[in-house]
Amino acid sequence: MRTISHFVNGQALEGSSIEKGGRFGDVFNPNTGEIQARVALATDAELDAAVRAAAAAQIGWAATNPQRRARVMFEFKRLIERDMNALAEILSSEHGKVIADSKGDIQRGLEVIEFACGIPHILKGEYTEGAGPGIDVYSMRQPLGVCAGITPFNFPAMIPMWMFGISIAVGNTFILKPSEKDPTVPVKLAELMMEAGAPAGVLNVVHGDKTAVDAILTHPLIRAVSFVGSSDIAHYVYQTGTAHGKRVQAMGGAKNHGIVLPDADLDQVVKDLSGAAFGSAGERCMALPVVVPVGKKTGDELRERMVAEIETLQVGISSDPAAHYGPVVSAAHRAKVADYIQIGVDEGAELVVDGRDFSLQGFEKGFFIGPSLFDGVKKGMRTYQEEIFGPVLQIVRAETFEEALALPSEHQYGNGVAIFTRNGRAAREFASRVNVGMVGINVPIPVPVAYHTFGGWKRSAFGDTNQHGVEGVKFYTKVKTITARWPEGDHEGDAFVIPTMK
Ligand code: NAD
Repeated sequence: MRTISHFVNGQALEGSSIEKGGRFGDVFNPNTGEIQARVALATDAELDAAVRAAAAAQIGWAATNPQRRARVMFEFKRLIERDMNALAEILSSEHGKVIADSKGDIQRGLEVIEFACGIPHILKGEYTEGAGPGIDVYSMRQPLGVCAGITPFNFPAMIPMWMFGISIAVGNTFILKPSEKDPTVPVKLAELMMEAGAPAGVLNVVHGDKTAVDAILTHPLIRAVSFVGSSDIAHYVYQTGTAHGKRVQAMGGAKNHGIVLPDADLDQVVKDLSGAAFGSAGERCMALPVVVPVGKKTGDELRERMVAEIETLQVGISSDPAAHYGPVVSAAHRAKVADYIQIGVDEGAELVVDGRDFSLQGFEKGFFIGPSLFDGVKKGMRTYQEEIFGPVLQIVRAETFEEALALPSEHQYGNGVAIFTRNGRAAREFASRVNVGMVGINVPIPVPVAYHTFGGWKRSAFGDTNQHGVEGVKFYTKVKTITARWPEGDHEGDAFVIPTMK
């Protein structure tokens, strides 16, 4: 069976043998349910080897001028585009999302690399001439050293690139701990980064589970940790990492609402919801698993059209170009989604469409689950409060705009939200008042473009700095401010004057 090794200092690092305390995880093909590879799970010593390689590489990499670092990014972009089809196929075979979604996953990460190609401009710093008599003040952003990223299974290309793209461009070296469920593409990205001209040790991949994460969070040479995953683990990572003196940003789970006002174009809304709720089997942190129609008429019409739309959805294997979505990532995740559907029934919601019995002919052991639709979901229900992360859409009806606005605003998660309306004034008020980090106006999945910034509020993100854009640059750098004067001739008698605005 194929073994997926760590990638340290520019080469594969085999996991320790089981006799020497090494452990391995199973990597499934979610289409067939079969184990297709095993992945090494790092020991503390393996993580330490990666950190030492990264620390050794960092001095020279930070001293490499920014346009040369940018050239590596340009070449990395070219290589990913060259290998796009092969990368997408591998990604789909481990994750289960359809090829078009895998290409989208890679493309959205690539856009952060494109942003990172402009790093010489972004790092220019600030300068004030004559802040005092003969005194100039300037500030610069310097890299932190060795940084680390811990990523979830659902975007195995995009989220690593959010992190290492910016971190490496500004002069840090990086340890990536990808999800152990779909670890091959992250290793390919590190190999391509070397092919693009990054020196060995600049980007390292260490696979693993909690043991590797804890080793990252406590390692004295790691300066900053970026995490994306579920909220309880995000909170743990934030608390443990900051307690060990690290800068930490930790993005968590989500329960994004789509608000539908009575004047919305319902045909468009139903199409948008279909992609946003069921696309990628609902395994997107910016999916729309909750729809809030305002008023009975809107709710009834939306439900009727949604049922008809769901009938057109095709669930298939990830390489089937006709499939709207593929299997979920694991048998355990499939069981968790099915359990949530049962909880929803038990707590009194109306299960309008039940996807639990779906089975794909010839792929009966695959982790497939059909689309499900609930109506009559209420605020107090567990299935409303918690993230299901599967192809399940919940209708939560509201009577008024204020009631609809309060639902996402009061929810424990605050990642994304969307409003569908033709009324600009209502949309503007909603966007201004809603207590959520990313808002879409007639845009179902409002993932900001790379040169803006990504981050939720409340239990969807711990820490103050968002991913990518200028916020990402701030996260991976520290500011140094220099106040300088160059007195003339013999300056023994000169008294230093603190610059004031007098
Ligand atoms: P997860 O929390 O299970 O895993 C994320 C990472 O944490 C993985 O690398 C995993 O190996 C590691 N990990 C798992 N258990 C751990 C433990 N006990 N201690 C320390 N580390 C541990 O998340 P997932 O299932 O891979 O991904 C889905 C979740 O990620 C969903 O909740 C989704 O909403 C969230 N997500 C959030 C965003 C965002 O930007 N807010 C983006 C994508 C996904």
